[in-house]
Amino acid sequence: MRTQVAIVGGGLAGLYAARLLHAAKVEWMLIEARDRLGGRILTVDEAGQPADDGFDLGPSWYWPRMQPVLAGLVAELGLSSFEQHSDGDVVFERMSRETPQRFRPVVQDQQSFRVAGGTGALVHAVARGLPRERLVLSAQVTAMALRGEHVELVIRHADGADETLVVGHVIAAIPPRLLEATVSFTPEQEASVARRWRDTPTWMAPHAKFFAVYDRPFWRDAGLSGTAQSMVGPMAEMHDATTASGGPGLFGFLRVDAEQRAALGEEALTRACLDQLARVFGPDARTPRAILFKDWAADPRTATAADRSAGGHPAPDPAPWVTGPWKEHLALAGSETSPTEPGYLAGAVGEAGRAVAELIKKLGAGGSRVGRSSD
Ligand SMILES: Cc1cc2nc3c(=O)[nH]c(=O)nc-3n(C[C@H](O)[C@H](O)[C@H](O)COP(=O)(O)OP(=O)(O)OC[C@H]3O[C@@H](n4cnc5c(N)ncnc54)[C@H](O)[C@@H]3O)c2cc1C
Repeated sequence: MRTQVAIVGGGLAGLYAARLLHAAKVEWMLIEARDRLGGRILTVDEAGQPADDGFDLGPSWYWPRMQPVLAGLVAELGLSSFEQHSDGDVVFERMSRETPQRFRPVVQDQQSFRVAGGTGALVHAVARGLPRERLVLSAQVTAMALRGEHVELVIRHADGADETLVVGHVIAAIPPRLLEATVSFTPEQEASVARRWRDTPTWMAPHAKFFAVYDRPFWRDAGLSGTAQSMVGPMAEMHDATTASGGPGLFGFLRVDAEQRAALGEEALTRACLDQLARVFGPDARTPRAILFKDWAADPRTATAADRSAGGHPAPDPAPWVTGPWKEHLALAGSETSPTEPGYLAGAVGEAGRAVAELIKKLGAGGSRVGRSSD
């Protein structure tokens, strides 16, 4: 197989890069290891199946006033958004021997917004405008080799068969740490570059989210917003997860770390989370209609072993992410490499935009023409 540009990764960054290349009439192919698009964006119904209107097991929020590029994309795609529900009291659970306390929250300066339908709606809307045959799913890039003006990518399909894709340029829209851990390079990346990729935490990779779906938002009836913080656990913070179409739910980020989660198991964690929801929001919380749980640290398409112990926010750093012989042929473009919003959805969109603009400039200046449709 040959094409002009390979995009590695079908999360928001990879898909947005594909959208921009498609609009610029540059030939591309997107290679995605999972059997679905979206990467860390995963919106599901209460049965846990990917859905057009559901619960965000990955990202839920964006901040339109601070993130105009993402807000612009949401508008351009014709999607609507709504404010994170925060009317009502907040609950604080300080110690296990104390009853959780409720208090009036201070009004937030930068209100969080959610995309109607869930952030999965963003993925669907971007993917809708792209030719299906150029989106290759269940295909993992395992190696890249620089051969003169070309890059050869080895792609492993779900059945174990390997295929080679020859391109002029690669946009790697995957977290740098995952790139370093799962793709081999010939020639190897310079030691300082490989170290930096390895040391860059993948945002939220160590985390897990727990959802409880209910018949009605009973906490709102009691004057509670659904927001709670806890020093007790197993969840550290909880929020109203009710969907735009009114599917009531609560969710929480686990404070129990990845190793402890693996040791405890999902059943014990579920029981502990329901106990906590009942302590914080009242006895109705103990009997949800459905529960959902996603442990991102246990997902090898997002997290490496390093993410189970070393998380944190990637630090913005303007130094180049690729140096040496690879510089002309490889660009990194996932949310982690953003100099302004590393780790966020807005960072993924911004980085894809930057990588594509730089690539189009290179191609215009007479860069590689491998696989152009006119060849
Ligand atoms: C629980 C959680 C909550 C979050 N909350 C928020 C939030 O509220 N707001 C916010 O702005 N951000 C949030 N984030 C972060 C946000 O999800 C990410 O910034 C964004 O989705 C990253 O997009 P991306 O395309 O850069 O990377 P990813 O979504 O990670 O996409 C990378 C893709 O590459 C694929 N891949 C990996 N290796 C290979 C390979 N070798 N070959 C082919 N494909 C490969 C993966 O399967 C994946 O689809 C959250 C993340 C999580 C996990």
